[in-house]
Amino acid sequence: MRSDVVVVGAGPVGLTAAVLLARQGLDVRVVERRPEPVTQSRATDLHARTLEALAPSGLTDLLMPLGRRVTAVDMRSGASRLGEVSTAGLRSPYPFVLTVPQCATEGILDKEAAQSGVSVHRGVSVRSVREEPFGVLLGVEGLGALRARCVIAADGISSTVRSVTGTAFRGHTHPGLWTLADLQVSAASLPLDRIHMITSRRGLLVVLPMHLDGWVRIVQHHPSPATHAFTVGCPPDGTQGVSSALLQEAAARGWTATAQACRWASSFRTHCRIASRSTSSHIVLIGDAAHVCSPIGGQGLNLGLRDAATLASALPDTLAGRGRRDGLAQWRSARRAEAWGVLTRTHLATTAWTQRSGPPAHLRDGALRALLTLPPARRRFAESMAGPAPNQPGSCANPGTG
Ligand SMILES: Cc1cc2nc3c(=O)[nH]c(=O)nc-3n(C[C@H](O)[C@H](O)[C@H](O)COP(=O)(O)OP(=O)(O)OC[C@H]3O[C@@H](n4cnc5c(N)ncnc54)[C@H](O)[C@@H]3O)c2cc1C
Repeated sequence: MRSDVVVVGAGPVGLTAAVLLARQGLDVRVVERRPEPVTQSRATDLHARTLEALAPSGLTDLLMPLGRRVTAVDMRSGASRLGEVSTAGLRSPYPFVLTVPQCATEGILDKEAAQSGVSVHRGVSVRSVREEPFGVLLGVEGLGALRARCVIAADGISSTVRSVTGTAFRGHTHPGLWTLADLQVSAASLPLDRIHMITSRRGLLVVLPMHLDGWVRIVQHHPSPATHAFTVGCPPDGTQGVSSALLQEAAARGWTATAQACRWASSFRTHCRIASRSTSSHIVLIGDAAHVCSPIGGQGLNLGLRDAATLASALPDTLAGRGRRDGLAQWRSARRAEAWGVLTRTHLATTAWTQRSGPPAHLRDGALRALLTLPPARRRFAESMAGPAPNQPGSCANPGTG
């Protein structure tokens, strides 16, 4: 089988790239290892610049009714309030964080893919990748050989395409482990319309509003996971154990609520990694296959979706031999610049927020308390969370710089 583009991975990033490219008349095929779409809420926060990048395609209008608009992040250290960041003043048609469960985002993209003529093959796995003079030959278990003029690797953090092409994925894994639970709560002691970041000697705890009334996600950092005997992806005491442990931890930091139901619980490690530079004109890495960052600030999916939107602007010209000859190289430089920025900021934020005591924790608290009294500093925090503004290097409206 032969296509213009094969996208490896039907996660949110791969599906977005597939839809946007197919709508420009390219013949696009997606191959996905999982037999069924995901059903969990996973990544939820969509930021202003991502919504702007997806708006021309109509995807933002489809996502808006599925999410809740959150405009404030409340920051605390122990019992003391450090301040608040508001997105309400952002210069954007979308001055908020839109919280949409990843399964709903993927559901929209799946429908759009079908309507745009994308062939999505589920339950098939890419095993081999060979670059040829005019394209790529993929060996796909469950489907056979596939030829494409371009392969977009959107196959996530453990990307097969990245590893079989020998592309390094440099960086580090953050210390500690995280647990999360999506809970329906009542009688909450803090308002459920904002994100709460609460750090203390017990570690960082984040409470995020979800799309449904009364539902929140609680995420906790465990600095010394050995003492908790956690394993990644599998909460030690099951869903019930995790949700009651998280509520106890929240109560110890002054945030109390009663759990009515739990939908999902998980545990995970966080990483800060970026794939090494590529010069291939036929294989492109995007999303978590290209870079991963800590979930503090909810940036990973947003960065990947902006990869997809900008690639869909650059790739058709490259494939048609139109425009600048180095169009793909320009796109790569711009995306790398944005990814470095996000990785640096999320690494600093994770390091700062996971300090529990001593001079580093005092320094963080003092600096945040002082900065959050200053309107320009609060604006900078909000802008950094939203993503790069349209005229900044690496932004969606300016993919050729950086
Ligand atoms: C707890 C948590 C919360 C998060 N919250 C946010 C948030 O609020 N906002 C945000 O921006 N980001 C968030 N992130 C990050 C976000 O989850 C990821 O950045 C995002 O899911 C990456 O999407 P992707 O499409 O690149 O990869 P994935 O969603 O991992 O998709 C990759 C797909 O490729 C498939 N695949 C893999 N190998 C093969 C193969 N060999 N052949 C075929 N298919 C293959 C996989 O089955 C998978 O479906 C969060 C992360 C975590 C851990």
